[in-house]
Amino acid sequence: MTSLTREDCAKLDAEDPLAGFRAEFALPDGVVYLDGNSLGALPKATPERVSRVVEREWGADLIASWSAAGWWDQPRTLGARIAPLVGAAPHEVVVGDSTSANLFKTLVAALRLNPDRNVVVGEAGNFPTDLYVTQGAAELMGAAERRVDPDEPALEAALASGDVAVVLLSHVDYRTGTLRDMAGLTRLAHRHGALVLWDLCHSVGALPVELGACGVDFAVGCTYKYLNAGPGAPSFTFAAERHHATARQPIAGWHGHARPFDFSGEYVPAEGASRFLSGSQSLIAAAALEASLDLWSRVDLDRLRAKSLALTDLFATLTADTGLMLMTPRAAERRGSQVSLRHPDGPAGEAIVRALAERGVIGDFRQPDVLRFGFAPLYLRHVDVYDAATALVEVVRSGGWRASRFTAPQEV
Ligand SMILES: *Cc1c(COP(=O)(O)O)cnc(C)c1O
Repeated sequence: MTSLTREDCAKLDAEDPLAGFRAEFALPDGVVYLDGNSLGALPKATPERVSRVVEREWGADLIASWSAAGWWDQPRTLGARIAPLVGAAPHEVVVGDSTSANLFKTLVAALRLNPDRNVVVGEAGNFPTDLYVTQGAAELMGAAERRVDPDEPALEAALASGDVAVVLLSHVDYRTGTLRDMAGLTRLAHRHGALVLWDLCHSVGALPVELGACGVDFAVGCTYKYLNAGPGAPSFTFAAERHHATARQPIAGWHGHARPFDFSGEYVPAEGASRFLSGSQSLIAAAALEASLDLWSRVDLDRLRAKSLALTDLFATLTADTGLMLMTPRAAERRGSQVSLRHPDGPAGEAIVRALAERGVIGDFRQPDVLRFGFAPLYLRHVDVYDAATALVEVVRSGGWRASRFTAPQEV
């Protein structure tokens, strides 16, 4: 890959079977957006879909839309459409609430399913909300929390005590971009009698996910990152069918009731993954997810993965001589859809990210020293990656990032 020129990249773009998707996104001119792993770009079809919900379904049809426009079933309808992206059956996924809330619901449900055990194992460097929710759920349930590195030896050691009820892992590490062995780690946890909850925030929409084939118990994921459903878009929850009859989540609400319109005083959980619902959802936000899923229903995930690996490999190769340390594994089977580089001096790394933004290359910086670049294969071209890498090399070589406008403290 080292010898690829910009012309070579343009040729790869011309042959790219996913190239047509770029035109379906509203992307600002002169910007290479490498932050789609934090907030995905806007599909052009979204504003119209959202305004249809606002103006017609809400404005004109009012309360009739709960049934006529499918509002009541929207959490299941959208869940069924996310299912193929994560290797699940349609009735195993529901959409609603935030990832943080769904982590709480599924963690407590898993603890209740494994009542003779009282330890939650999480990963030491996980995204903070995963750690905080684990602390909160464990405290509430009288369980203990154990944090480990998410590799086989460390996990095996943590599981050996025989008291682990549930293991919570991120499929792709948000900081380093490392992809975990979902099948192997799930098998390991099951062998030791623990259930497994996977966080898919940085893998759904970035690569094919096989929850069913891997025997996963529960999973949650964001839709505003690689799925492009917009800021604050609802999260999704996967519950394996074998747990549907017995799982009990803690925020029992009327949308998760078996017969919500009986308005009875006693909670009876609904069949299937619906029991993970609680209350009314933002249907305006759900409309934006619906628009982005229209687009996703046409995406071949194997092609998506092949392009993602090509883009991340290209960026890692072209930036190899910058002196920045590559944190993301080079091995394709261990890499998500991002490239993270470490600068020995954290503040310098942050200044480099700011200098890049001024050149139209949008990445992000994660404390203490990580320069993070996400590659959304639906709207990025090989030439974009080439240009971004070239800009990074120039910023580092020229020392242009030392200008005070990049190094001065930022007022958030
Ligand atoms: C982005 C992300 C979240 C976000 O949770 P919210 O409740 O949507 O704020 C949670 N976990 C991981 C691993 C993430 O990457």
